[in-house]
Amino acid sequence: ITIGVASETASGERRVALTPETCKKLVARGAKVRVQRGAGQQAAFTDDAYADAGAELVDDADTALRDADLVLCVQPPSSATLMGLREGAALVGLLAPQADAARGEAINARHLLAFPLERLPRTTRAQAMDVLSSQAGMAGYKAVLIAAQLAPRFFPMLTTAAGTIRPSKVLIVGAGVAGLQAIATAKRLGAQVEGFDVRPETREQIESLGGRFLDLGVSAAGEGGYARALTDEERAEQQRRLAEHLKNVDVIVCTAAVPGRPAPKIITAAMVAGMRPGSVIVDLAAETGGNCELTRPGETVDSGGVTISGPLNIASMGAVHASEMYARNVLNFVSLFVTEEASREGRLAFDWDDELLARTVWPERVVAPVAAATT
Ligand code: NAD
Repeated sequence: ITIGVASETASGERRVALTPETCKKLVARGAKVRVQRGAGQQAAFTDDAYADAGAELVDDADTALRDADLVLCVQPPSSATLMGLREGAALVGLLAPQADAARGEAINARHLLAFPLERLPRTTRAQAMDVLSSQAGMAGYKAVLIAAQLAPRFFPMLTTAAGTIRPSKVLIVGAGVAGLQAIATAKRLGAQVEGFDVRPETREQIESLGGRFLDLGVSAAGEGGYARALTDEERAEQQRRLAEHLKNVDVIVCTAAVPGRPAPKIITAAMVAGMRPGSVIVDLAAETGGNCELTRPGETVDSGGVTISGPLNIASMGAVHASEMYARNVLNFVSLFVTEEASREGRLAFDWDDELLARTVWPERVVAPVAAATT
């Protein structure tokens, strides 16, 4: 089989879906891997490194992808690129097929087997393939560093000849994968860290990282281990308790999300107005609208002396490790169908009884009921 990787084209995207390490493993399995020159450059992977790993380097995206049986990407290729792929080719990446009608149509028109990795079920078996988790870890880490950079304060407590500096108080909103990494990172920088979430099990997770759980009296565990949206009453209660608390917080890192919905609005304009000047909010949820009412996605703004930053595609800022993890996740996922035997025979071996494949592929396949009643 032939696997193709082109340079990412989304603006600001520095990551790459294949690293020399994962390339080598696919080549060892008998696959032919074609990589566009420069595809790994922004993540510090050189063309030479890919060549050493057995890839064939080509000059343009079209040559890299045209004959590929399997295309690997981080963000979705343009619909024009998709239309140029071989009919029936498999496509693996963060494809967001419903976010763009032309993209969805191109996937259907070329009969592509699209595997949007954001659809992967988050089961134990899928953990090694879970790009949402690996990328959220980088995002949570970087968000704290951005906050530390913007803050006009030290994070740690310092005892100096010029007096004692009290540690910054850092609040992490949402304690999923990104939030827990943010807590760990802020803690390592010496801040006084607290966090809250609406899933009750996060209390123990926050505390195990040395953070304090901020109890806002709301519990809203939803389906599949995720949060559900809050009712109006729950939201009002959360906000009442939070507004008072924020008057003494120096830094907020927002990470709260509910799958398939815009980010919950948690920090209101009135709460920001009540915060001390010199405070900083970094809103990781900016991508889906922000947890703070005043967040402007992609911008850093000042509101009455409070700095509010809404960075986009933050995982891409740590492109080397983000790519290494992403590429390993992708390798683990494609290993479900790029087996040694199949790739030598020039085919992809899909087992549609495997729920990881069946539930990730888009459009959804109509699967016959397993145990239809026979009468
Ligand atoms: P996410 O990005 O969807 O949400 C981030 C966090 O925001 C979640 O913890 C959520 O509870 C929280 N949140 C939502 N609304 C909120 C509100 N109004 N106020 C405060 N917090 C709010 O979630 P995620 O980080 O991708 O994952 C969530 C959880 O899923 C993980 O912590 C974990 O328990 C589970 N998970 C399991 C696996 C696995 O077993 N393979 C893998 C990944 C995640």
